[in-house]
Formats: sequence, C-alpha cells, structure tokens
Amino acid sequence: MSEQKQYKRVVPSYLKDFKCIGGKCEDTCCAGWCIEVDAGTYAKYKKVEHETLKNRMNQDIVDRKQKATDAFAAEIQLKNNRCAFLSEGGLCDIYSGLGEDHLSHTCGLYPRTLNRIHNTIEYSMTFSCPEAARQILLQKAPMTFSESEQLVYEGIISADVDLNVEKPREWQDYFFMIRDKAISLLQNRAYGLEERLTHVEGLMLGVTELAQKGKVKEVPSFIEKYTGEKFKGEREVDAGILIERLYFLQQDMELPSERYEACLHQMLEGLGLTGETTLQQAYKLYIKGERGCFKDFLEQKGHILENYLVNYIYERCIPLDGATPIESYEWMLLYYTLIKVHVIGMGMATQTGKKVIQEEQAIQLIQSFTKTYDHNDGYLSYFVD
Ligand code: SF4
Repeated sequence: MSEQKQYKRVVPSYLKDFKCIGGKCEDTCCAGWCIEVDAGTYAKYKKVEHETLKNRMNQDIVDRKQKATDAFAAEIQLKNNRCAFLSEGGLCDIYSGLGEDHLSHTCGLYPRTLNRIHNTIEYSMTFSCPEAARQILLQKAPMTFSESEQLVYEGIISADVDLNVEKPREWQDYFFMIRDKAISLLQNRAYGLEERLTHVEGLMLGVTELAQKGKVKEVPSFIEKYTGEKFKGEREVDAGILIERLYFLQQDMELPSERYEACLHQMLEGLGLTGETTLQQAYKLYIKGERGCFKDFLEQKGHILENYLVNYIYERCIPLDGATPIESYEWMLLYYTLIKVHVIGMGMATQTGKKVIQEEQAIQLIQSFTKTYDHNDGYLSYFVD
C-alpha cells in the first residue's frame, strides 16, 4: 500500500467501544497461536536495556534467519501453549515493561482487520477475540459505518483489492453497490432474519446471472430496483448432514479450542447424540428445536445473528471471496447454518426450561467457532464435499 493519506477510512459503529480487557480475557489471543514479530519491532527488541526483559527476549524470541521477511522477522515462543511474555495474571509483560509502542504490529493490531478496497481502507474486527465478539454482536441497533480520521498501524492489510469503479467491466467493479445492498437487505427488520437471507441470495443470484449473460452494465439498475420480496430462495444447507459431520468431527479430530469443544459437546448433548439417540432421531429433535428454541432465539436475540452476518459481509468483503456472488453467498450460508445447528442443539440442552441460549453462550459459541474454523481450513473442509 502506498501513500496512506490518499485513502478514505471507514469504521463500523462497534469499533470505537473496543478495548482489550487483558487479564480478564477468557480466551486470550496470546494462547495457542504463533506470535509473529515484524522486522521493525524486532530491531527495537534487540536494543532493549531492561535487564530482565532483555534476557527473556534473547531466550524466547526466535530469529527466522533466512526465512525472515519485513512482516515476519522473528517468532515469540509459546510456553505451555501461551505466549512466553504473558504473565500469570494474563497481562503482557512487554506492554507492562516497555509500553504499547514495543508491541509487534500483529499484537498491536489484533483483533482489528484492515482491508484496502479501491480508495478506501476499511477497519473491522474479528469474532475470535471474545471482547470484540461482545462489542460486535450485542449491539441492538443495526450496525452503521462511517468515515473516520482514526488511524492504527496500517502495514498489515488482509484484503488489498483494486477495482475499476470509474469504468466498470466486471461484476467485481460494482462491489460497493452489491455489498451495501446486501447489508441493507440483512438489516431490514420488517422481515424475519431467514427471509432477509433469501433476499440476499436473490441479489447474489441476480448479479451472477447478469455477469454470466454478459450484461454486467445492467447490474446497477438491477440492484436499484431489487427488493428481494418476490424471491423465494433456492439454496439450503442440509442440516442433517452437518449434524452427522459435527458428530464425527468430535470423534475424529483434536480440536484446538476447549471453549469450542464445550459448545460442540453441549450441542450434541442437546440433540441426544451423547447418548443412545440415532442421527435420524437427532435430526427430528433439530427440526423441533428450529420451530421452538431457535424461533424464540431469533425473536429475543435476533440482533446477534444479524450482526454476525453483517460483520461477516463487511469484514470478508463479500462477495469478492467467491468466483461468483452466488458462490460467495453459499459459503456464508454454510457458516450461518453451522452456527444455527449449534444454537439449536445448545438451546435443547439448556436446563433453564426456556431452551434459548443466553448471550454469553452465544458469544462463546461464535468466538470459539471463529477461532476454530477460520484459523484452520482443515476443520471447515470437513463440511465440504
Ligand atoms: S483476545 Fe481480545 S480481549 Fe483477549 S487479550 Fe486478545 S485482544 Fe485482548
């Protein structure tokens, strides 16, 4: 990315309220992941005079030597699967001893994500941080986006996309228009959430068909007129197959997150799959839960899943992640259905009698689900034929 100032910066409404909760964090980002140190920060570490930290840095930061790049020059070792600089109380010793300006770019940026699309740098956050998940998901008012002067380190860009906005030739050149429409359809609370999802499906299908017929120039007028009301929805992910695969996933694979493992177990328990129940009976329970606890969940806490989907679309630059807009939608539907299966199963397992999962359970589910599936393609591929 060249000259920073030529870009417009856009932030979602939840970002301003985020603050890392450090020692109070229930699933710190300093555990279980490789911790990258960029070349600039590594050079600073080599000059540290603080006696104790200097010795610890010599011991616990490994130079990548020939493999070193500007972005990844060294790696902080994990001890007992936790960052070597994470104190017993869950605080960062580098931050406490040397200050925020000694954090590596990765540590300083997380859980923020930056995407550069055309002339805009978009800030967002990932659900894998529990506090970010709370800020994003629990907002009752629809998420908004606005221009901002706020800057963080902008050297780590996740998606870096050029578009031909002035002279569009491909469907991708209408990205902003497609995405804005998808978000407004999802936030139209005059309809139920799943109906809104089918409206998005119709949008993505319509743009895909225009592109395939060579009528890309008609995309703007199609989007302008499109309301989704007449589209009935054609796509569905088979929840029965997902339940079966989740059942075998728990048996076959070692899961990296104990928090996710707990959600998965609770979901299987709710559908009877930790006992004698067959997969067919579990599916019947799922259908019962869909009409019962899931319907109630959407009525009482539907904003959680709306915010999940809106942030999914925004953070991942949907539909640019697919070969076609409808392919991108199909991925989103898979994620949504996986989460729905968990919400239903976990709801069926609750002892409250209400069978609707609580906010903190929803946060734990979406946070640990994201940490498991988004950071290792192996788990998601389990659901794709
Ligand atoms: S996961 Fe989020 S809240 Fe927890 S330590 Fe990391 S940045 Fe802070």
